[in-house]
Amino acid sequence: MQANKIAVVGGGISGLVTAYYLLKKGYQVTLFEKEAELGGLASTFPVKGTRLEKFYHHFFAQDTLALELIEELGLKDKFYWAFPRMGFFSKGTTYPFTTPLDLLAFPPLSLPERLKFGLFSFKVKQETDWQKLETKTAKEWLIENLGTNIYQEVWQPLLRAKFAEHADKIPAFWVWGRLKARGKSRSAFGWREKLGYLKGSYQVLIDALAAKITGLGGAIKLGQELKTFPLPGFDRTILTIPQVSQDFGLKYLGNICLIIKTKQRLSNYYWLNLADNSIPFCVIVEHNNAFDSPLYQGERFLFLSSYLDHQSDFWQLTDQELLTTYLAGLQKIYPAFKREALLDYYVFREKFAQPLPTLGYSKKVPPFKINEKLYLVSNMQIYPEDRGINDTIKLICKFIEQF
Ligand SMILES: Cc1cc2nc3c(=O)[nH]c(=O)nc-3n(C[C@H](O)[C@H](O)[C@H](O)COP(=O)(O)OP(=O)(O)OC[C@H]3O[C@@H](n4cnc5c(N)ncnc54)[C@H](O)[C@@H]3O)c2cc1C
Repeated sequence: MQANKIAVVGGGISGLVTAYYLLKKGYQVTLFEKEAELGGLASTFPVKGTRLEKFYHHFFAQDTLALELIEELGLKDKFYWAFPRMGFFSKGTTYPFTTPLDLLAFPPLSLPERLKFGLFSFKVKQETDWQKLETKTAKEWLIENLGTNIYQEVWQPLLRAKFAEHADKIPAFWVWGRLKARGKSRSAFGWREKLGYLKGSYQVLIDALAAKITGLGGAIKLGQELKTFPLPGFDRTILTIPQVSQDFGLKYLGNICLIIKTKQRLSNYYWLNLADNSIPFCVIVEHNNAFDSPLYQGERFLFLSSYLDHQSDFWQLTDQELLTTYLAGLQKIYPAFKREALLDYYVFREKFAQPLPTLGYSKKVPPFKINEKLYLVSNMQIYPEDRGINDTIKLICKFIEQF
């Protein structure tokens, strides 16, 4: 094999999977990660008896490539499914939002609106031509099909949760992709959504990939922030880092996750969408409601998450200021939660958390090959799907075929 000495830059799931797959093909690989630990957005931190993700994570039913990888890595016995409940908080009340029946009984919408919403969601899942949706905003498309009220009551809050002030400019294909993906992760007739997790957290996946890399003769170098590419001494350098997005005119949103540790159960919901602009976060993930473990010894973890521009004033708040603001928000939803019930809290921030899709995105996606020595395989190239781990693996498989 020619030109076989490869540097992989980035030790997130993209870098780890790329390095592993290249080693299996016989390349010599060195992986460089700027942090002291691997995992990137999927990385974890220690909690009592085990570890937990810094940013909530789960697998979807349609994540076939991720599940194949889990099996290949010998982690099948650690994997399990849960059937969690979803909720929607609007105008001071929390509503169930898991099944079609929940939608039929969803008070913020009138009955004809609920039926329209249900029918639309069904029709969209049959649609295959997403190209026609890439030059129209989701706002235009949803208002055209569902009317202003459904957009304002349901869709705009959901889009704000993910894209902050960019919500109204997100292309329609993104909503199409999400509706399709969510449809596939539901059981027949959409009654339940199933989500998967690994006993021991995503750390077991990260550790297993790292073990395969070193087992196949690859090298992992931690604490190495690389600045100039391609790297001297290697035949080819592969960037898996989102930080180079600016070079291609693409933008990312950041994410702040404040994790609350408590012994108090706040609800039955795993996932609660918040349609209330006065609350400084957009989703609450009550982890134990889907993925509890005896290892937690009764401790419960709530992720309060928001996507935002890392240049915004809000990003500059100290951890203590964030806690005060977030607790006030949490108490609006769950007045029974008192500060004394807070056992601890953790703040995690990531500037490059979510690529920002724009109109005509497919024409802006950078190629895999930058030049003979430099390559890019990064979640900014995932399109028209969103950037989950399964689609990251799909992208890497496509990349490796062409490498
Ligand atoms: C809040 C949140 C929730 C999510 N939930 C899910 C979920 O439930 N399910 C799912 O499938 N996906 C989820 N994702 C997405 C998922 O985490 C990512 O798609 C996946 O981890 C792949 O990330 P990556 O390796 O492409 O990028 P990253 O994880 O960003 O990895 C990039 C790595 O490169 C390193 N790096 C950056 N610059 C340099 C440099 N100059 N030199 C060396 N190293 C460098 C970084 O430190 C990092 O480790 C979520 C993401 C977020 C933000």
